[in-house]
Amino acid sequence: MTHNRRATYNMLLRSSENRSVPFCNCEYPAVTRSRHTARKIERCRCGEDTSTRLDWTWDVDCGHPDTKITNGTEIVFHPVYSQGTAVIRGTQPLQQGMHHYWEIKILSQLAGTDIMLGIGTDKVDLLAHRFKFASCLGLDDQSWGYSYRGLTQHNNQLKYYGKKFSQGRIIGVYVDMFRGVLEFYLNRRSQGRAYSNIPRDSKGCIYPMVCSTSAKSSIKLINAASFKDSLIFHCMRVISKYPKLLEQVQAIPGLRRHADDLWFLQLREPKKPDEFQRNNLLLEDEALLCGMKKKKFNEIVSQSQAQAPPENISEDQIYENMITEEDTKKQPLNGTRTISTSSSSEDEELAWMISREFFCNH
Ligand SMILES: [Zn+2]
Repeated sequence: MTHNRRATYNMLLRSSENRSVPFCNCEYPAVTRSRHTARKIERCRCGEDTSTRLDWTWDVDCGHPDTKITNGTEIVFHPVYSQGTAVIRGTQPLQQGMHHYWEIKILSQLAGTDIMLGIGTDKVDLLAHRFKFASCLGLDDQSWGYSYRGLTQHNNQLKYYGKKFSQGRIIGVYVDMFRGVLEFYLNRRSQGRAYSNIPRDSKGCIYPMVCSTSAKSSIKLINAASFKDSLIFHCMRVISKYPKLLEQVQAIPGLRRHADDLWFLQLREPKKPDEFQRNNLLLEDEALLCGMKKKKFNEIVSQSQAQAPPENISEDQIYENMITEEDTKKQPLNGTRTISTSSSSEDEELAWMISREFFCNH
């Protein structure tokens, strides 16, 4: 790692001091050198029964010599000690033009150079770093990875992405091979789009991948499914955003099956608090807001003068008023990033049409 790269890496690490919490409250067995653990702890099965579909498993045949794979789903990396990086890929490449979603449960505590989940082409040499500790996924343009440190990597470029993860977390990987989009979920919450440049031509075969440098680190594939890019898929994606509409669809026996099959579309991004939106306003928004802030302050003062004598008005209150107002108006700030997107209003319109066509009594 060059000096500059290490500096960037350290800077990114510092900025991603956001740890995640486990998916459930179960206790996990601790790794022990003794043959008998102090007490037997039942293995946690939480989240494993949502879907048991496994369209592919981990490839035992091209398995790394420093790993132990059980039932094609559970991997123990470096079962004795670690001397480098082990990379494992799925049995099948991800088919073009389809939507793929799989989930991995982290069974052990993670530590060390890196543990990454993601995808890579058939050109990735699984043994290249057998005797080197590396963040293997995303080292070049042939793979894309999400590190347990909360960073993503592609083409040797690290970027801050989401939360850190360790034992007890469920990481979902969604790959849209129709649009070339890669997205990661943590404990069934989307963390947003990680990459949108996944090749969609039929030349390269892209496989699910995972890599680890950590001795006795262990993960389990709990479900893996692929779906055709179809009208049903897109309708379900829109319907899933509206809980009442989804409820109505689930009440229809012929449609319930589709809602159940496409369960992962119902997983939601956490609602971002106003503070998050405020902190994420672009600098140009900030400049524009300064002018607006002055205007708004005068408005608030004149309003409060009409009702009561002016009190101390905090900056937060002023911003809050502006954001709520802009949000309700659904009008973009001129030339700046907007809070509401046009795609969501299109979705709302489509949901309204579906609701009207299917559920209104004509
Ligand atoms: Zn549990």
